[in-house]
Amino acid sequence: MPTEKPGRSRPDLMLYAKLAQYAPGYVCGQLELTSRCLQRCPMCASWRDSEPQGEMPMRTIVDLFHELNQLRTFEHLSLTGGDPQCYPFLEAVAKHPRKFQLQLTTAMMAMPKPWYEHFDRIRVSFDAVDPLMHKAMRGVYRAFPTTALEYLEGIDTEVSTLTTVNEHNIDAVPQILEFLTDYSFRNNRFRRAIFLLEIRDDLPQDVIDTFQEYTLQSRMWNLNTSFGESPIHAALMRNSALTRDCRCYVGDVSFHIKCNGDVYPCCLIGGEAIPTVTEMKIGNIGKEEIEGMFGLQWTHTHRPANYYKNQPECRKVCQWKQVTFNTMVKEAIDVRLAMP
Ligand code: SF4
Ligand code: SF4
Repeated sequence: MPTEKPGRSRPDLMLYAKLAQYAPGYVCGQLELTSRCLQRCPMCASWRDSEPQGEMPMRTIVDLFHELNQLRTFEHLSLTGGDPQCYPFLEAVAKHPRKFQLQLTTAMMAMPKPWYEHFDRIRVSFDAVDPLMHKAMRGVYRAFPTTALEYLEGIDTEVSTLTTVNEHNIDAVPQILEFLTDYSFRNNRFRRAIFLLEIRDDLPQDVIDTFQEYTLQSRMWNLNTSFGESPIHAALMRNSALTRDCRCYVGDVSFHIKCNGDVYPCCLIGGEAIPTVTEMKIGNIGKEEIEGMFGLQWTHTHRPANYYKNQPECRKVCQWKQVTFNTMVKEAIDVRLAMP
């Protein structure tokens, strides 16, 4: 029986959960600009899709931004890939007029440009300080993995890091934390270090145990991390009574768009954690307006009421943020307030 306490409920997720029960419209989303990438991470499905997803035409992005600017509810768009740094029109995307926040999600394998300041936030993959460990994690050798962050010193924007944790780098987490704690983010605001335990059925038990230990220790660390958000607790929740009759509400507030324009309810099913689950496709932005797709995930008969029971992929890959969000929305809908 695991001894770990449940992760803390993030206040922003609770707010989104309250919002989601009234389904006001899309609030956030992710957009894959290109399937090209400068790395070959073993856990990544994106660059392995049997049909290459290609590159999103700039015209499609201009139209999408125009649509999103009209959506009263829309707040935040993340640019992903592949690696958005491979996208030839990234500068035009960064500078395009918008009413929402724009995040660049990258491994920062190339030098950033001064116009990167147009992004509201940059999230950098940072899995290793040691070059050989970087190769084990990202499939390519990088002499100084820390340059990924050092490149950003001159950029005036908000920065966060994302560390995928598995058997290769679990023991190096203190070293990564030490680097991040000492690192002087001179011109940018450091938001937080996110640590994601790799989703795999055969992850060794000692890796899981060490991760739990870090979770306990993290309360003492002088750095804002995601360790309170427990992937182990999420795994338990996915198979517990908490998710009984729980459908997925993530697609009621957000979307994930592949670079061929296909829209999915989340990035996991959309191919970031596993090969893309094509039967979960909601539509395509080249053919329909994004606003018209809102709510469509429930009109498809093949979408079960209980994702965690009936969708094997959801039961395998759904992460802490999504599972806690879904169960919070369910609770928000189930609980009715009454005067005493
Ligand atoms: S995880 Fe990201 S950086 Fe790594 S290969 Fe996949 S798309 Fe590229
Ligand atoms: S993986 Fe989670 S967020 Fe994605 S569709 Fe399944 S239940 Fe929803």
